[in-house]
Amino acid sequence: MSQTPQRLIRVGWLIDGLGGAIRRDVTLGVADGKIVSITETADQRGDEPHLDLSRATILPHLIDSHIHLWLSASTDPEYRARQCQATPEAITAQIKQNLGYLLAHGVVVARDLGDRHGLALAESRRFTDAPTRIIASGPGWHQNGRYGTLFAHAPETGETLVVACRRGDDGAPWLKIFQSGANSLKIFGQAAKPQFSAEEMRAATAWAHSQGKKVAVHANGAEAAHSALTAGCDSIEHGYFIGEENLREMARRGVVWAPTLVPMRALADYPGLSPAERAIAAKNLAHQIEQVRLGRKLGVQIVCGTDAGCTGVICGDALREELALLMKAGFSLAEAVKSATSDAASLLGLPGFSLAPGQPADFLVVRASPAQLPRKLFFIDAIYRNGEADRRFHAPIR
Ligand SMILES: [Zn+2]
Repeated sequence: MSQTPQRLIRVGWLIDGLGGAIRRDVTLGVADGKIVSITETADQRGDEPHLDLSRATILPHLIDSHIHLWLSASTDPEYRARQCQATPEAITAQIKQNLGYLLAHGVVVARDLGDRHGLALAESRRFTDAPTRIIASGPGWHQNGRYGTLFAHAPETGETLVVACRRGDDGAPWLKIFQSGANSLKIFGQAAKPQFSAEEMRAATAWAHSQGKKVAVHANGAEAAHSALTAGCDSIEHGYFIGEENLREMARRGVVWAPTLVPMRALADYPGLSPAERAIAAKNLAHQIEQVRLGRKLGVQIVCGTDAGCTGVICGDALREELALLMKAGFSLAEAVKSATSDAASLLGLPGFSLAPGQPADFLVVRASPAQLPRKLFFIDAIYRNGEADRRFHAPIR
């Protein structure tokens, strides 16, 4: 049996995406596009590396688990209003621009959880081998007259949620349900009533699972989260003010949580709000950071999702901010990276996204040491796929 010659890649620091200790000065053996060995560089017996990345950090490709590609993240209310009237061509152009921002920050998979036009889903089908892959829910579902019109459709009068889901089925791999409102910026911790009954949630979730779809539920407040969990959802989105009981239930059921810290931080800084509203946003953020700290202790699987596209939350850049906020809640850098790599990949059913023998040699090359991360995550010099630099990626001129 002939063996493909191994290529040696020397790296300064390696973050494995599995939460393991960050390794210093190691050499990767790569053959047939896969990692076959990771050894201390000092133990190499004089073999010259084929590629020297000894001043860089490598880490797996990144995943943003909660995004809205059709939105611009503009903080100008007039622009945002115009954007809602935009033509499909203009929205598709916005999606492409956002995909470019994501790639520049090493984000190669984005889970898009709702645009009422379904254009991110259409884009995900047009370019299946795009450098940044979209996994989209298409339009989600919300109750008529309740929060979610930007992202979702509502059942018709007299129609239950599950009947609406069946009628509107576009074959998307995820079903997104809006089960609460946005967080109040007037009254701290005020929870909106659930949008759908527990029975409707159960029926819609069971139908989605029977179709091979997973279910993501926008849920803030204990009651909304409880109905989503007992219905058997796969992920809770946002989950502000859901409380300890729900966190324990999530850990027990293995339900994944995308706590989306960065949009609240963006609101806390947003000049379009009154000082009192900004203060409530800052309090909401502090409370959510404490919930994440508790969720981590209880063993809830937490993924990095940014809600990029929302006010002041810019695709790509938001991911490094979210990682920094997770670290404020007690995550180590290695754990934060895990939430945006192997944990997110397991939620999405994707192989890879970790650096270990047997895995594809898919990684980002960042010109920074771990001590400078995630702050310098935009200094990406290259994206490797199967051991080769992806020529579609061009490091930005800095
Ligand atoms: Zn969202």
